[in-house]
Amino acid sequence: MQIVTDIAQWRNIRKSLSNSSIGFVPTMGNLHLGHLSLCQRAQAETSLVIVSIFVNPTQFNQAADFQHYPRTLEQDITLLKDVKVDYLLVFNEDELYPDKFEIQLHETTLSSELEGAHRPGHFTGMLTIVLKLFNLVQPTHAYFGEKDYQQLLLIQKMVASLFLPIAIISCPTVRDKDGLALSSRNSRLNPAQRQKAIFFAPILQKGNTITEIQSQLEDENIQIDYIADKWNRRLAAVWLEDIRLIDNIPLE
Ligand code: AMP
Repeated sequence: MQIVTDIAQWRNIRKSLSNSSIGFVPTMGNLHLGHLSLCQRAQAETSLVIVSIFVNPTQFNQAADFQHYPRTLEQDITLLKDVKVDYLLVFNEDELYPDKFEIQLHETTLSSELEGAHRPGHFTGMLTIVLKLFNLVQPTHAYFGEKDYQQLLLIQKMVASLFLPIAIISCPTVRDKDGLALSSRNSRLNPAQRQKAIFFAPILQKGNTITEIQSQLEDENIQIDYIADKWNRRLAAVWLEDIRLIDNIPLE
């Protein structure tokens, strides 16, 4: 695996690549089996796999969440080598935002609901960085998790709207055996919070009404941002003190 930290160097490498298919997995690092499932899918479907790690400041709407976001580059490199990724891109903020975020990609409808309503600006930051990365990587295929379902819908919409020649491949959510969706933020849960977190996913799975789920979460003192049925999914976001978890499941 070649690690590239310089955008000019990467652009030269990219020019030299002649693969018929290139799979791309953008991440914010602190990798777990969810991320690796995307890499493995890319590995199976394309002839070259590129992963990026960048904790994108413009998609965090709380400074503390950005500061505390787990950064584990050495461990991530070991995991990516194991799944035979070809290139790892680790660019810094100054290089990725030469415009200092003065150019933004703003979606006006989907991005103001649910996650967007609770995290103002989040999807503008996300879409802007993903478009920058797409332009740098020029993949034929890009892999995204259903765990971030609204994000996936927005990426699909961006690609269709801007006529980007990239197939967006959605990948199922990978969960711990207790049902909790794997998330980089899970590593910040203390044992008591973790104990509470495992109430969250099974409650969504049980086929109860939204009102029943709300009262079950409230009984556990879990603060709810939203629970909603939309896009043929049930989606929810909750707080365990200062840690926010999201999840969603398909509705039959
Ligand atoms: P992140 O590093 O959180 O920005 O996530 C990078 C990619 O991994 C996104 O497409 C996420 O949807 C995906 N992802 C994160 N957690 C999971 C999971 N538990 N299962 C499947 N995909 C995931």
